[in-house]
Amino acid sequence: MKHFLLAACILFAAGCTSAQTKKYAVTKTDAEWRKQLTAEQYAVTRQKGTETAYTGKYWDNHKPGIYKCVCCGQELFSSTTKFDSGTGWPSFWQAINKKYVEENDDNSYGMHRTEVTCSRCGAHLGHVFDDGPQPTGLRYCMNSASLSFVPKN
Ligand code: FE
Repeated sequence: MKHFLLAACILFAAGCTSAQTKKYAVTKTDAEWRKQLTAEQYAVTRQKGTETAYTGKYWDNHKPGIYKCVCCGQELFSSTTKFDSGTGWPSFWQAINKKYVEENDDNSYGMHRTEVTCSRCGAHLGHVFDDGPQPTGLRYCMNSASLSFVPKN
């Protein structure tokens, strides 16, 4: 019985570890993320924060280019799918590739929303809503703090 309990504990611990390290290609320690990111970038991407509307770098950016994950550099959104949502957050009707973003149920703050994270490093990016423009009808409502803009040369 003792051995059975011990084995059960080990299996449980192993399960927890694999769930935490998930499948992300880029993983860093909390200290490493804090070192790499600004305080706001860290709060948004690693602690699921939200920047105040109309304060970010990109809500009013109309230059052509690519928006990458500020944490790992994965290409997430193109300026060609960016639109003025009137929310004060950079908004897109499509991701560059569906594989580059993950969707997760978010029931915080008494709401049901769909959280969007980077598929390469797990960074919190924002949420996706179904009230966007055509052709997709989607509105990826992102935080500027989660993104790094690379202008088209
Ligand atoms: Fe990332």
